[in-house]
Amino acid sequence: MRDETKCVVTPEVKEDGYRSLAPSVHRASTIVFANAEEYATRGERGPDGYTYGLYGTPTTRQLEARLQALSGAKRTLLVPSGQASNAVAAMALLSAGDHILIADTSYPPMRTHADEDLKRFGISVDYYDPLSLEDLKRRIRPETKLVWCESPGSTTMEVQDIPAIVSIAHDAGAMVGCDNTWATALAFKAHAFGVDIVSEALTKYASGHSDILMGAMSFADEETALRVRAFMGRTGIGVSPDDAAMVLRGMETMALRFSHAEAGARRLIEGMQGHPAVREIYWPPLENNPGHTFWKRDFTGAAGVFTVVLSDGASARLDAALGALKTIAIGASWGGTRSLVAPMSIGKARSATAVEGEDLFIRFSVGLEAIEELEADIDAFLARLK
Ligand SMILES: *Cc1c(COP(=O)(O)O)cnc(C)c1O
Repeated sequence: MRDETKCVVTPEVKEDGYRSLAPSVHRASTIVFANAEEYATRGERGPDGYTYGLYGTPTTRQLEARLQALSGAKRTLLVPSGQASNAVAAMALLSAGDHILIADTSYPPMRTHADEDLKRFGISVDYYDPLSLEDLKRRIRPETKLVWCESPGSTTMEVQDIPAIVSIAHDAGAMVGCDNTWATALAFKAHAFGVDIVSEALTKYASGHSDILMGAMSFADEETALRVRAFMGRTGIGVSPDDAAMVLRGMETMALRFSHAEAGARRLIEGMQGHPAVREIYWPPLENNPGHTFWKRDFTGAAGVFTVVLSDGASARLDAALGALKTIAIGASWGGTRSLVAPMSIGKARSATAVEGEDLFIRFSVGLEAIEELEADIDAFLARLK
């Protein structure tokens, strides 16, 4: 072999006897075949075979397998972001003439996608009150093919009666999709309650370190999963094995981080309750949280993400209060090791329900810092609001 050739041929080394607890990063665009026959019949390898890097390598399959086992799905597919998992599910499964019903409290980019893109594709889009089965029944139509849930709702935390929604949707011949990013499969096994498609932003708790964007769609049945997988192949959607390896690593501490965040949120909330600057706190384990009884019935835990509504007049001092924070950073994409706060206005992202009072919601996400330092931040924050 000449030097130029030696430079490019990957040497074969002994792999037997090599076992590691860590996933290996298998990178590939092209897959090579032993002979002409294997190449000619590569299309028959099926969804678990290897034919092209876009359709998966052992690293991405390992992450899919882990998520599939955790969620109780028939198959899990990876996409480049949490928003991609919402949008790809909708685009892959809906056609012109179909109708989608979306929970009014869904992640706002899902609404924008529906209003800007799904409508452009001839799909009609409608929003329903996430807490009203009557409203859902009133709006569901023979053309409704997908009822989209997000429980708890983005920012305002309404917990939905998923089994009842599933029953209404299935009776009408529609599938149910649910964005389960807040709870993850650790705290809510959406498939066990009849959800057909579970969407999750792995960007949040699964990756857990604020440095990866990825999403996962998990399916209750293989046929739907394969339809979506084929759409992803046609539209060229896949993820990097390096990123998948990072998520595999992040997930090893996910259960610990998740329960730590829940305990931290409980402590910070206890310190805020009753403070004159605080009007309301939304967090599903709180009894006053809309849909709390469904959380209690269906969930086994809570994320460390909660929302605070300030008392009248306090919002004028919000910028100064945010300026007092030393440990909590200002930012939106929660679920990492650092605690975050994000002031949000959501009025424009609601149509079937209305925001009462001032349209200002302060969303907190608890990370892994010392709880005393987070409590000191909250004390300083509240003191400046008075
Ligand atoms: C963050 C988030 C998403 C989007 O995830 P990205 O990876 O940032 O695109 C979707 N749904 C919910 C509920 C989220 O919180």
